Amino acid sequence: MKEKREAIAWFEKTKKAQRALLKKSITKQRGYVTTNYTLAKGTQGKKRKYITRKEYEEQQKVLRALEKTSALLTVETDVTTILEKIARTVATALGAKQASFFDFTPDRKGAFIRAAYGIQNQYIEHSRVDPLPIGGAWLGRAMSTGQAWATSDVQKDPVLPASWLPAVKKQNYHGLLCLPLMRGNTIIGGICIYYKDRHKSQFFEIDVMTIVANQAATAIENARIFGDLEAEREKTLAIVYSLSDGLVLYDLENRITLVNPRAQELLLLNINDVLNKKLDGSFASKNIYLQNLFRIRQMMQKDYETREFTTEGPQKVVLQVTQVPVRGSEKRKIGTVLILHDITREKEIEQLKANFVTVASHQLRTPISGIKWSLDMLRKGEKGALNSEQKDLTEKSFQATEHMANLVNDLLDASRIEEGRFGYAFTTGDLLPLVEKVISDLKPNAESRTLDFAFEKPTAPLPAASFDASKLVLAIQNVIDNAIKYTELRGTVRIKIRPERSSLFIIVEDTGIGIPEKSKKFIFNKFFRGENAIRYQTEGSGLGLYIAKSIVEKHNGTITFESTEGTGSTFMIQLPTDPAHMPKGALET
Ligand code: ADP
Repeated sequence: MKEKREAIAWFEKTKKAQRALLKKSITKQRGYVTTNYTLAKGTQGKKRKYITRKEYEEQQKVLRALEKTSALLTVETDVTTILEKIARTVATALGAKQASFFDFTPDRKGAFIRAAYGIQNQYIEHSRVDPLPIGGAWLGRAMSTGQAWATSDVQKDPVLPASWLPAVKKQNYHGLLCLPLMRGNTIIGGICIYYKDRHKSQFFEIDVMTIVANQAATAIENARIFGDLEAEREKTLAIVYSLSDGLVLYDLENRITLVNPRAQELLLLNINDVLNKKLDGSFASKNIYLQNLFRIRQMMQKDYETREFTTEGPQKVVLQVTQVPVRGSEKRKIGTVLILHDITREKEIEQLKANFVTVASHQLRTPISGIKWSLDMLRKGEKGALNSEQKDLTEKSFQATEHMANLVNDLLDASRIEEGRFGYAFTTGDLLPLVEKVISDLKPNAESRTLDFAFEKPTAPLPAASFDASKLVLAIQNVIDNAIKYTELRGTVRIKIRPERSSLFIIVEDTGIGIPEKSKKFIFNKFFRGENAIRYQTEGSGLGLYIAKSIVEKHNGTITFESTEGTGSTFMIQLPTDPAHMPKGALET
């Protein structure tokens, strides 16, 4: 910017002198003529109306050259080739000896040859190592003012710095014409045409050269945009290639357009077998690895969904596959990408954990039942009367063992739910006896905590519901048991059943410790226990509500709660009574 401003200031200052010089130079022929054609055009009033036949033929030749240079823009893609060809075409058409395109050095204080015609390579190389300073000579003026400058004889023109004369003489040229290359208002380079003899450029030549300069600027600009795009593409590719997830991209015709190295590794794919191939049945027939890819493609139905897939073949890999649409301009879908995330290790660990829990709890169940059974006999005095101390001790041991048995059962249930081996068999019937049975079983617990514990029996018969009694008992039991456990002595626990809106609601209200706001969203998580609950009741697995939720949802129902810490909680189990929504038959998981 600064240079440009300085250049314009310099130009303004010399404008007057230039005009004076121009008048002289255009009107009188002298040994040399330096012309600013931009200014000269303004004084071009007395233009001749007619041109000679020779001039006409010359002009035709130049116009044909122009046509040729335009064509280059669409045929060639390499910018240096385009510029070299333009240079040759215009130099030849204008009868010049050489033509060269100049670029600015990064600081814009110098210029070097970017492409040329008729100039020996050593000069081109030299200009790169030791750029020409942007000074007051023709190229410098053109590249700093954005205007066309020319001289009819460089060697006689005092504008040429004396020190440059030997080089010019060596290159042996006289006439010179320089123009800027413009992108909008920005000067991005320059072009010079060198004539072997003295030559005073005609306005027609300047017009043509301006068009050529514009063409060249367009080619350079295109190359820049293309280069930016290419760099952007390289960057994206580098990211895609170094991702730790596999990526497979295919277009709207199912043709695979990209498979990154991680995807090749995970699916054991040979890139040549997949790239540009159509993902269809015949594609898959070649080998098991291609079949894996085809089956993944078949498995994915909707964009943004995630599914698990285990590969077939010697290497078993568990993949979490996500399908994401790829959009082009105007958000139009142009393809799909499958993201393959390797979860083999997580799955293995999960499986090991589940196996451990199942085996451990199975192994514990039998001895615990044995201990419980013995303690029960002892505490009931079946093996002889106990003194009060002994009775107290056996009672406590019995309760602790019962707690342990419950914990083991919860663990087993949770791991069965997780592994999908819980197994449901639904029958339709009246829910009331089941709820009453749970309540009567838990009554002693409530009494031992001196609670006001009551069931508000429905007044009318309940609509039939569909349930798996052995499973639903666990859910209801857990919710009522919690209400008893987490309510202070002499508190209240109320249980109601309400038929409403094609559903049955089992409502368990307590005046207990409540659930703190920050715990609410975790309440159904596996192993979660609220802080206040842990303080109040040290024993608990945090599995009860997790199991209850899973069971209720398998009944197509919901479990919800409302609670205020320190005031109490209300849990609601909703089960559908509308036949269309009731669960039917058997469920394996
Ligand atoms: P556990 O009772 O073994 O801790 P649950 O899964 O049954 O596990 O319950 C999870 C947590 O939910 C409890 O630890 C407690 O913080 C909270 N909770 C459940 N029911 C109640 C209730 N009626 N009153 C207060 N907190 C409750």
